[in-house]
Parts: sequence; C-alpha cells; structure tokens
Amino acid sequence: MLKTALVTTRDYARHFAGRSHPERPERIEAMIEMTETMHRDGLIHHLPREATTEEISLCHDPAYIAMVARTRAFDRFDFDPDTHASRDSYRTAMLAAGGVLTAVEAVLDGAADNAFAMVRPPGHHALPDRAMGFCFFNNVAIAAAWLVKHRGLKRVMIVDWDVHHGNGTQEMFYESPEVLYVSTHQYPHYPGSGSLHEIGAGAGEGYTINVPMPADFGDDEYLRVFDDFILPVGRRFQPEFVLVSAGFDCHWRDPLAQMRVTEDGFEAMARRTKKLAAECCEGKMVAALEGGYDLEALVNSARAVLGEMGRYADEPIHAAREGSAVMPIVERAFRNVGRFWNLA
Ligand SMILES: [Zn+2]
Repeated sequence: MLKTALVTTRDYARHFAGRSHPERPERIEAMIEMTETMHRDGLIHHLPREATTEEISLCHDPAYIAMVARTRAFDRFDFDPDTHASRDSYRTAMLAAGGVLTAVEAVLDGAADNAFAMVRPPGHHALPDRAMGFCFFNNVAIAAAWLVKHRGLKRVMIVDWDVHHGNGTQEMFYESPEVLYVSTHQYPHYPGSGSLHEIGAGAGEGYTINVPMPADFGDDEYLRVFDDFILPVGRRFQPEFVLVSAGFDCHWRDPLAQMRVTEDGFEAMARRTKKLAAECCEGKMVAALEGGYDLEALVNSARAVLGEMGRYADEPIHAAREGSAVMPIVERAFRNVGRFWNLA
C-alpha cells in the first residue's frame, strides 16, 4: 500500500457557525469516527500545525486577516448571511490552513506518498479580502501559493471537484500561469461564477478551466470530463504537485446541491487524479476537505477516497462509460481553452 498521511484533529470541531448551520462540527466528528474504525495499511495520522499569519498573507490581505482575528472577542460575528464566526473560528481557520500545509510538508518530506487533510472550516470560496460561503481562509490556495513562493515550484495543479465553483481560488490565481485551477461544478448554482468563459487573464490566460455542469450529472458524466479533458490538460501542464479541493457535496444525498455522484464516483475521480500525479510528479498529491453536508455521504465518500489513495497507481483505469449528455460541455470547454493546451 502507499503511505497516506491523514491530517486531522478534533479541534476542527471548535468552529461553530450557528445552530442548524450545514457546515457543522458534527462533520469532522463523523469523519474522525470513520477514520478510527478504518483499518487501512499505510495510513499515518498527523496532527495539523497552525498556519502563520505570514503564510495566510500569501493569499489574504493583512487587514482582512486582522479582521478575522478580531472575531475572537465575539460569541458570534456575521460576515455574510451564510458565514458566521464564533470565538474559536479564527484559530480553527488558522489550523485548517495549517493542516493542508502539514499534509503538503508530509508529502514533500517523504513521510508519506500522498495525504488527506480533513479540515474545517472549508476554504475555496474565501476571497483575498472577504469571507464567504462558510469559508474564512482559502486553505488549498494558501498551500498552492506556499509551494510556489516557499518551495519554488513552477507548476501546481488544483483539481476542485466540490459541487460549488471555487471562486476564491480562481480569483487568487486568475493571472498566474504557475497554478492551474480546474473546477467541475453545478451551474448555474452558488456562488454564480465558473462559466466556460472564465479562463484566466494575462499571463494566466488558459490556466483557469471551468467545467460548469447542469444538475443531475453523476459518475459517468464526471468521469468523462476527467478522462476527456482534465487528464489530457493535466498531462500537458505536467504539475509538480497536485492539490484537490475535495468537496463531497456533489454526492446524490447532499442537501445543498443536485448532483448524483456516488462513493464509486469519488473513488474513481481520486484514482484518476492519483494517476495523473503518478505520471507527472511521483504521485505528490494532497486532498483537502471542502464541502459535503450529508454525514453519511461524507463519511462513505471520504472512506472510498482514502482507500483509493492507498492503492498503487499502476492499476488500469477503466474508461468512463459514455455519458453522452456531457459531450457538448466538454466540446465547448475544449473550444475555449483547448488552444492553450494543444488539444485538437
Ligand atoms: Zn461546496
């Protein structure tokens, strides 16, 4: 089995967004309970470290970081109608960003082949100067910027399969050719961005790739998008590290969206991402938890991904079945960004 670092802590339950809020402490408690009963060889438990303010400032404005820090003084602080902080939210958010960095460090240092950072609060909606969509600091974006700025990487790929578009991540690297951001998401849906025409700008033109998909798409459609589009682009890009914004809210049970992905689908997406990493960068891959609001779906899907991350990548991948509904979308995405990647 491959060695997978599992980075998590019960301290991630200390951020409280409000009674009956879907992004709730029980999410992390259920995940930890699952990992405690999961017997997988090569699973190594790591405790997360806190990110430093300097690391957070790789992606966020100092004034905004200070504003989030000030919420420590309040039982409740509302950033927007969805995004609420409690007294422990700032520290938990620092620990979430640091958790992804801990996972990245474990892979870079050779302590693990790959890693899963089971963190909360999530990050991919967080903008440089604004909390939104349950997110405060953009955990995965900070890890990508850290790899570029602190470790000198030239090519980092982010695969975001959360059902929502990662508008924060997109914005942070919109003009950067060093970070390739690829997102599959339900569209139109929250937060509204992520159309086919958002492809990056300036030196980053072509390095933002959106695959907006209508409701009711499931495993066949997602895997077609991976096989026909995401993997070919990834092979051209030749990432030196692959990060996954692993949201499990495109699961068919999820209450916040209308996609139909199953546990098998998440496992297959993880297999493809792992294979890409194996081909390009000795398997260096870190998945970080984003959304996923049905506890049963969350736990079962994360278990499937964790199991898959332990398997050697040279197993054959069965090509996705024909998901004909998806072809016009893949073709349009090809038309918009294919020219940047020599995809005919
Ligand atoms: Zn989401």
